[in-house]
Amino acid sequence: MALRSLITLILLSSFSLFAQAEGVRFALVKTSETETLDAFTVAGGKWTEKVKANHTAVLIQHHAATLLFDTGLGRQVDRQFKEEMPWWEKPLMQYGAVTPARDQLDRAGIRVDRILLSHAHWDHASALADFAEVPVWAPYEEIEFSEIATPPAILPSQFAHRVNWHPFEFQPEPFMGFDRSLDLFGDRSLVLVPLDGHTPGSTGLFLTLEDGRRFFFTGDASWRLEGFTGPKDKFWLSSRLVDNDRAGTHAQLRKVHDLLKATPGLTLIPAHDAQVQDRLGYYPRWIQ
Ligand SMILES: [Zn+2]
Repeated sequence: MALRSLITLILLSSFSLFAQAEGVRFALVKTSETETLDAFTVAGGKWTEKVKANHTAVLIQHHAATLLFDTGLGRQVDRQFKEEMPWWEKPLMQYGAVTPARDQLDRAGIRVDRILLSHAHWDHASALADFAEVPVWAPYEEIEFSEIATPPAILPSQFAHRVNWHPFEFQPEPFMGFDRSLDLFGDRSLVLVPLDGHTPGSTGLFLTLEDGRRFFFTGDASWRLEGFTGPKDKFWLSSRLVDNDRAGTHAQLRKVHDLLKATPGLTLIPAHDAQVQDRLGYYPRWIQ
């Protein structure tokens, strides 16, 4: 009996090693892009230069599940924007033609098992209704924020359907300089960390490929890579408009700045930075 248990244990552990070896891959699903002034996005930016900004959902395939990190702009976004965005914010929040993530994934027959949110702002979570059947993972603080925030941060119709929230708490497990983290599948390939500041439950995601290349999806802590390499805050007016806690956001920039210096080879992917994302390419191109 003991021998049989031992054999079972060996078989199980070799299976789990095999399963881990299958790794993870991701693709950037661009749902829209826009153009804005460099100066609006980062402190010290140029008033004479324009930069592209993306609205991207990140499609992640792990052997245990298919996930989306953020949803980008969704099928209802034009109506949401027209009806719920305050008129004085509209010029600042413009976006280009929209190709919703759900349309792109349906065409390929890809089913999403779980949505993770960097945060609940409309330009990251406007497409939740397109995936109404899919559980949405977020920290308690962000779910609470989604209930009390008002336009322009949140457009009420984003959550008009009954969102299948799956609240979680970070564990006291240090990871990459963060005191708390949540290892989604216990294999360190996908690890969430708190990046609160921009919103109370803002969340970053470390994704590690099988060969060790590591990517850090940093949501809106900064809109630009320069925000972390500097470090540089957002343009002060932009920060006043969008950062829930400006000092908290600044502290996260410094922390990621230090992490970047100590970790050569780490690729940061700010949610809107089109320059960074252009280098990686877009779905159906996979990074693996
Ligand atoms: Zn945001």
